[in-house]
Amino acid sequence: MSIFEQMEQHDHEQLVFCHDETTGLKAIIGIHDTTLGPALGGTRMWAYADEASAVRDVLRLSRGMTYKAAAAGLNLGGGKAVIIGDAKKMKSEMLFRSYGRFVQTLGGRYITAEDVGTTVQDMEWARMETDSVVGISRSLGGSGDPSPFTALGVFEGIKASVNWQTGSDSLEGKKITVQGVGHVGIHLVKMLADAGAKVFITDIDQDNLRKTSELVPSAEYVDPDAIYDVDCDIYAPCALGATVNDETIERLKCSIIAGSANNTLDREDHAQALADRGILYAPDYVVNAGGLINVANELEGYNAQRSTERVQAIYDITTRIFQIARDEGITTLQAANTLAERRIAGVAKIKDTFVGNRLNRYR
Ligand code: NAD
Repeated sequence: MSIFEQMEQHDHEQLVFCHDETTGLKAIIGIHDTTLGPALGGTRMWAYADEASAVRDVLRLSRGMTYKAAAAGLNLGGGKAVIIGDAKKMKSEMLFRSYGRFVQTLGGRYITAEDVGTTVQDMEWARMETDSVVGISRSLGGSGDPSPFTALGVFEGIKASVNWQTGSDSLEGKKITVQGVGHVGIHLVKMLADAGAKVFITDIDQDNLRKTSELVPSAEYVDPDAIYDVDCDIYAPCALGATVNDETIERLKCSIIAGSANNTLDREDHAQALADRGILYAPDYVVNAGGLINVANELEGYNAQRSTERVQAIYDITTRIFQIARDEGITTLQAANTLAERRIAGVAKIKDTFVGNRLNRYR
């Protein structure tokens, strides 16, 4: 498929190729949809096998950001960027400053942040050349590590799911498995245990397991592969994608799945398979939006309290999605997509009205 055909497929607005010979920069910025506001999404640095893979990835990821921001109620569009190269070998101040200058040429249409393969340091270099960077350190007035906010959003999504099934959002005595106790998982385990849940944890990283056990001594260790067989109420995937697949669905004993891992479902039709088994799936991109909500808060002048309150709204958003799924007879994943698409269509419609002058920088 040609690049324009790929862009037509999901209605992408813009793809920007950036090249700088001296630093070796090869970057592609994807802007999917800016109906709601500037496209915000991280910059991924990855040694792609070929350019076609990088294009496919940036198109897929930028579209995902449109849905995530829209469902989260943010005034942001969807964008993402990739830098082609080995993050361990190619990084330099000049590479990221050069990249930052290209971001600046987009005049605020795209706002970047860190992602897989990039760090706060990289973004601070980019920020020397562009205003369109978020996710910088607290010491520079930024929002710092997003992980505790992502964990809070997942916690709210879990409570909303339990409430939907039982009429009470108490986690007292609930058995919850947390797969992956890295940046997000460790905070989630603490919140769940504090709320009275019985938490089972697994990880392949001994260091992360040790840190979590020190923080939450009551958390019970389970072997990585045995996590799918634990008799539990809730499964919270916080490690890898595609852990809900043809093989694991048969094994899962939970009645709720809600976690931070992106692309939890191996295929979209697994949402129906879960529904058929009576398992309530809280869509990943809805419950893991806390980090995005937190980072987006930098655009208004960062305030941790405001950020916390906005992340807590994931409870109501998750409930709304369950209502749409029930009322319209669709899966919760389809309901999340519907919620996002309706919000975008609604904002596109009200923008038909001519307002004379620009109201603020988001228009
Ligand atoms: P992380 O790398 O800090 O933690 C992931 C943990 O999973 C690690 O401890 C790793 O050892 C463990 N793990 C890897 N393979 C495993 C396996 N097979 N079984 C058990 N454990 C395994 O990552 P993170 O920042 O905590 O993010 C976790 C997930 O949430 C990722 O999918 C990420 O994309 C997603 N996410 C994170 C954020 C955020 O704010 N950090 C935001 C949105 C989504």
